[in-house]
Amino acid sequence: MSTDPMQQLHSWLKDAHAMEEQAEQMLTAQAKRLEHYPKLQERITQHIEETRSQASRITECLESMDTSTSTMKDLGAKFAAMGQAIGGSMASDEVVKGGIASYAFEHFEIANYRALIAAADQLGQDRIREVCEGILKEEMAMAKWLEDNLDEVTRAFLARAESDELQGKR
Ligand code: MG
Ligand code: FE
Repeated sequence: MSTDPMQQLHSWLKDAHAMEEQAEQMLTAQAKRLEHYPKLQERITQHIEETRSQASRITECLESMDTSTSTMKDLGAKFAAMGQAIGGSMASDEVVKGGIASYAFEHFEIANYRALIAAADQLGQDRIREVCEGILKEEMAMAKWLEDNLDEVTRAFLARAESDELQGKR
């Protein structure tokens, strides 16, 4: 059974919208627990704003396609497992685990937008391609920031653990 190509693009955009809603939830949960890591908290808060804007840019793309079918029912469950890894953990090392999971999730987003860009390009949907290229840049910048800062976050976490240990806090 083959799917109409435009319908396929529409369906992938809906998945991207669900992905961004999941991202917003995860990042919001994560940001709340980073009071000891202000640089990371600030960058994540910035990316929450970007993520909200990405979701609305994707919604505009979906609306521009006037594909009559499907409602905007999101496939949140698809990403629930990854969401738990990022936002749901209350483990003591959650700042490190969350940083690792966020780094992985940004690359998942990058892969999704690369595929969307190819699809939109092939179908001559220039506006949708441009929107996805803009979002891709933001995801790559976030992935790069995490790449550049995971070392420092991990060291800061261990230093805090050591100092808590010395003060008999654990
Ligand atoms: Mg995103
Ligand atoms: Fe992202």
